Amino acid sequence: MTAFLDARALPDGTTLSPDLAIIGGGPAGISLALALKDTPYSILILEGGGQEFDPKTQALYKGAQSGERYVPLDQGRLRQLGGSSNHWGGYCRPLDPIDFEERSWVPNSGWPFGIETLKPYFPRAQALVEAGPWMYDDIARHLGAADGTVIKLGAGGVYTSFFQFSKTQSDSHATYFGQRYGADLKAAPRIATWLNAGVTGVKLAHDTRQVAQLSVATLDGKRFTVKPRFTVLAAGAMENARLMLASNDVMAAGVGNQNDLVGRFFADHPIPRDVATLVLFDGAVSPLYWNAHDINATTAMADGTLIRAVLSPTQDYIRRQHLLGSLTTVENPVKLDEAGTAAVVATAQALGVDASNGQAYTLGVGLEMMPDPERRLTLAGERDALGMPRLSLNTTQPQGDFLLYQKTLQELGRQLLASKTGMLRLNYHDRDGWMHGMTAQKQLWWGNHHLGTTRMHNDPKKGVVDADGKVHGLANLFVAGSSVFPTYGSSNPTMNLLALTLRLADHLKTVLA
Ligand SMILES: Cc1cc2nc3c(=O)[nH]c(=O)nc-3n(C[C@H](O)[C@H](O)[C@H](O)COP(=O)(O)OP(=O)(O)OC[C@H]3O[C@@H](n4cnc5c(N)ncnc54)[C@H](O)[C@@H]3O)c2cc1C
Repeated sequence: MTAFLDARALPDGTTLSPDLAIIGGGPAGISLALALKDTPYSILILEGGGQEFDPKTQALYKGAQSGERYVPLDQGRLRQLGGSSNHWGGYCRPLDPIDFEERSWVPNSGWPFGIETLKPYFPRAQALVEAGPWMYDDIARHLGAADGTVIKLGAGGVYTSFFQFSKTQSDSHATYFGQRYGADLKAAPRIATWLNAGVTGVKLAHDTRQVAQLSVATLDGKRFTVKPRFTVLAAGAMENARLMLASNDVMAAGVGNQNDLVGRFFADHPIPRDVATLVLFDGAVSPLYWNAHDINATTAMADGTLIRAVLSPTQDYIRRQHLLGSLTTVENPVKLDEAGTAAVVATAQALGVDASNGQAYTLGVGLEMMPDPERRLTLAGERDALGMPRLSLNTTQPQGDFLLYQKTLQELGRQLLASKTGMLRLNYHDRDGWMHGMTAQKQLWWGNHHLGTTRMHNDPKKGVVDADGKVHGLANLFVAGSSVFPTYGSSNPTMNLLALTLRLADHLKTVLA
């Protein structure tokens, strides 16, 4: 068993020459290294943070912002071993098949392959996030009568889908990758994990066809060089783009940015709140829909795994109505005002149902965004303590994304009436409402799911990396993580990006040989 290594202890000017350098020790970097641990190749993880949170290291993530209000760049991610998994929510759900397809109504959509390509990697990705057996939309078959039932809906475009939660066996937190897999990294004889090793530059050879070396710096002023045969950027979707843009000494636009795509198409999952009020005529909603993180709630389990039901448009409905993905959550019980109560009484009478025990609930949602090249990261003028240019993020959030989601809500309302189960009131009718909610405390949240800044496409004019995750035009540079997602879906990214990372590991085994 080897200890983690601290880059601050390296003599200044050292040069290391591994077979593979992985930049970033978050879920992607750690999983990639472990997937290659039994190969004969020497692997170096260059992790920019330490084992614990450190404010000075975290400050390297500060950046500028313009456009829509978004999470400050040093708050929606963590620069330490394990990356943002040190405070992730553990929500897991596979992408849907339609998320991979080119959709005529979604410009710039489509992956170079379908979900079938990722499917073989899902079981191992699921094991890494420790989210229990693979059930998801098949969960209903695993539920006992006492566990609760899904909301009865008339036939139509919305159905109940499921999240499974990452949960370690030892405590109630989601899997923190640095803690959970630290011992495995230390036990792997050919993996060296250097902490506090901030990569500041990816230097190209003069022929501009390959990476020649990496520049690494520590906050106490050390500088050293790594000359790997192959490099994988696994620094998160913001830092992957930053490193490529800032490495502009040989190619002025930055590494892999010959077509001005690096940093563009940034996306997240917007989470507008109180989007609608759901009334169930017979009262209580099944615990399946409760927020598993609400400590007052009795959480729902299936086969020993924490789960949460959500309402999702079917693939068919998305296709027919030209929608984007969305996952609608039941949030809190709420008291109806007089007009709302009168509407429930009148509707129940018209349907011939008893609503005397009726109960209202607020609904929230996580939305897929339309890809937008102008929602992008660029370099800001200011530099951080390692001398790297800081990032500047421009966020856009068009009204159109909300209007598409409104159709899903309208369909849900129709299906509730058709089954005589309940009814729905839509709460927002303009963009301002969606963005800012009905009260100042109810502003739109973001999922902190950073996506899309080094998108994957077979055509170098449309993507930064190819279908193998290799940067177009460069023989030995790859990208791991959700920065390569060209279209996003509404599922949370981590389990999916891990499946993609495991696929990359298989590919690297062939190119390293
Ligand atoms: C509050 C919050 C809640 C979330 N909840 C969920 C959820 O419920 N479900 C879900 O699927 N996802 C969730 N996410 C997203 C999830 O955390 C990310 O998808 C995941 O961490 C991405 O893994 P990664 O390894 O690609 O990147 P990161 O986790 O960002 O890891 C990148 C690593 O690279 C290191 N690094 C960065 N720059 C450099 C550099 N220049 N040199 C060397 N090292 C560097 C960082 O220190 C870090 O360790 C959440 C995120 C946040 C912030």
